[in-house]
Amino acid sequence: MSIPPPNTPAGAPAPAPFCARCGAPNDAGLAQCPHCGQNLLAAWPSQPGGYASQAYPPSATGGGLGALIPTKNPSALTAYYLGIFSIIPCLAIPMGIAAVVLGLRGLKRFQEHPEVRGKAHAWVGIIAGGFFALINIGALVFAVVAPYFRSGG
Ligand SMILES: [Zn+2]
Repeated sequence: MSIPPPNTPAGAPAPAPFCARCGAPNDAGLAQCPHCGQNLLAAWPSQPGGYASQAYPPSATGGGLGALIPTKNPSALTAYYLGIFSIIPCLAIPMGIAAVVLGLRGLKRFQEHPEVRGKAHAWVGIIAGGFFALINIGALVFAVVAPYFRSGG
């Protein structure tokens, strides 16, 4: 009864770019030593050809969920939710203003680092948050001012 050897974790030190048998350089990441024919894949099974550290799946570098949810642009993401939730009247003014501020910050971050994405989320936060905040500020001002006109001093 034999236990299979544990896989080397991803953070393990990279294999030396030299053949384990003859010491010939293998900086091309070949599967077999060009000098002596040593199977270099067998030497480090978890690092086939040495490419493992470079080959990320496409979803990790851009597309996929990252395109929909700007997890690397928390300002834009927070602005988006604040903008949506500022539809609640009592929260609209503080949340709407916060959404605009965070949305502008998220936009700035997007312009400096386009890879973080979040432009659309930031704009939703700015527009929705600003819109609901203005409506509520207007309603608040009206509610405060209207009685003075009605009572006709
Ligand atoms: Zn060799």
